[in-house]
Amino acid sequence: MPSRRIPSVEEAYKLFNDDPYKPLSHWADEWECSHERVRQLREQCGFPPISSIDHGIARIVIDRLYSGKYSLTVRDLYDDLPIGLEKFMTWCKEDPAIWLGVLHAQQYIKEKSWNPDEKQCTKCGELQKIDRFGKTQKYKDGRQKICNNCVQNPSGKLEEIQKKKEKLEQLRQKLDN
Ligand SMILES: [Zn+2]
Repeated sequence: MPSRRIPSVEEAYKLFNDDPYKPLSHWADEWECSHERVRQLREQCGFPPISSIDHGIARIVIDRLYSGKYSLTVRDLYDDLPIGLEKFMTWCKEDPAIWLGVLHAQQYIKEKSWNPDEKQCTKCGELQKIDRFGKTQKYKDGRQKICNNCVQNPSGKLEEIQKKKEKLEQLRQKLDN
């Protein structure tokens, strides 16, 4: 069933013009139609096809891969861009330099995961410098999963007992007064 929310070509022209960088996926959500339908409508309005490679946008995608926060196929990566994964992959095929950029970024992140600067302790949850973790051959980054603090103070029990003692002492003093 065709969506009733899809605007006419005239309406769409005005909408695209008002917000030229709004990602196609956002229009598709708004109009409850496919990404492809939005792309067609855009072309019907006379806008140039997005297939022509935009190296500025390709750069943004590659930078995001370098940040390690996104992988190539995660939708969030393209959320605020005028292209999606499929379009980006066609750019990669058309321009080997872009694909090379992707491979370099992926390689960089892979190496970093083997040799990180920081690590999150699985016990206290704190992100700490890598030298706060003991060495081990067990894991690929060569470090323990639990930070030195947590290893030296297992389950924080000593602190807990000390705190309880202090509270009891305070209570006693109150009762005495
Ligand atoms: Zn810890």
